[in-house]
Amino acid sequence: MSRADTTLTPYLPGAPFFAYRDGELWAEGVRVADLAHEHGTPLFVYSRTAMLAALGAYQRGLAGRDALVCYAMKANSNLAILEVFARAGCGFDIVSGGELERALRAGAAPERIVFSGVGKTRAEMRRALQVGIGCFNVESRAELDVLDAVARELGARAPVSVRVNPDVDAQTHPYISTGLKDNKFGIAHDEALDAYRHAASLPGLRVVGIDCHIGSQITSTGPYLDALERVLDLVEAIEAEGIALHHLDLGGGLGIEYHGEQPPAADALWQALLARLDARGHGQRRLLLEPGRSLVGNAGICITEVLYTKPGPVKNFLIVDAAMNDLPRPAMYDAYHAIAPVRPRTEPPQVWDVVGPVCESGDWLGRERALAVQAGDWLAVGSAGAYCMSMASHYNSRGKAAEVLVSGDRAQLIRARESINDLWRQERGLALD
Ligand code: PLP
Repeated sequence: MSRADTTLTPYLPGAPFFAYRDGELWAEGVRVADLAHEHGTPLFVYSRTAMLAALGAYQRGLAGRDALVCYAMKANSNLAILEVFARAGCGFDIVSGGELERALRAGAAPERIVFSGVGKTRAEMRRALQVGIGCFNVESRAELDVLDAVARELGARAPVSVRVNPDVDAQTHPYISTGLKDNKFGIAHDEALDAYRHAASLPGLRVVGIDCHIGSQITSTGPYLDALERVLDLVEAIEAEGIALHHLDLGGGLGIEYHGEQPPAADALWQALLARLDARGHGQRRLLLEPGRSLVGNAGICITEVLYTKPGPVKNFLIVDAAMNDLPRPAMYDAYHAIAPVRPRTEPPQVWDVVGPVCESGDWLGRERALAVQAGDWLAVGSAGAYCMSMASHYNSRGKAAEVLVSGDRAQLIRARESINDLWRQERGLALD
């Protein structure tokens, strides 16, 4: 479906996996309305074929190279989705002990796991060493020292990369920009060589690579090329001192279309990066990548029911049953998600703000959207596969939504809707007098 069709057919990113046929929205070969009937709303619907197609673009771009895609599971850490990527041969980029256990539970090969994050605890390091993960992406000098101590206690040597902060502007939202000097991430470019000398001197560490990740929702190739140049300068300086770097991890960050953005395709991005690597004589180096959003973002939608129409003197509100606790990105980043009816009506549209039931004015999913809808209709919120369910909360004591994975004409519930008991399962009634 092209953008020109929007007046006739609503537009959602994610075609052809989410597309209108016979006057209604389908997820691959399954009617979205059937899923909403069966499982209720709010309901996340994911397309396995869309995930594998997104992964395929990376695999095409890296064909013939020694490369490993480590899915950044913070984007969406449902076990079934992790299994999709584990079975497809992916490694995982993790940022917590919880993510480590999820990855292992989903069948990940430990040596294909890289552990990022500025605040790893000793217990998390210990467990990751015991299972034998592939690499710790270390984010500070202090962390190098703690990891060294933990590894020596275990009689192990921890495989490490230093996460370098290349001071490159990823040209994205400030909250998801991570490669600038004033961000908390990584070790500053001009301190990295010294950090490597220090790491190489510690008996509990084994230097295996170098890492950088400059931000998320990056929509052009330029910031990646800038970061690559800066990292390669460092690689050459580090190796000149006799410290060998087995792999180069360029992080994740590739953006997706939410609302007309045109990020490079993963294969085109990697063609450009590989050309630069080859030109500088680093073509044979093992490559690691940590994509999250670009693998799952447009492989998911969230279905929500219109509870009330509330026309007003200044604004018209559509009050729906999904809210900021299910889809936090609009409230958090002022983010745009396409919103389209599951079964479009033929009446002329009206302009609505689409809002949830949570008691916050920040609880909105879309502003000033032209929609022809009535109470009881289902709407699909687009680009909901990444950083939605994984950021969901219980705010306002709302149980988390259900999730369904579609593959061809089959659908499987991969997370049941939370019950009332789930809301207070970990709480204890007052026992003090
Ligand atoms: N790697 C690291 C270290 C990250 O912090 C993130 C996300 O912020 C990612 C990978 C994944 O980024 P994205 O989902 O934009 O690909």
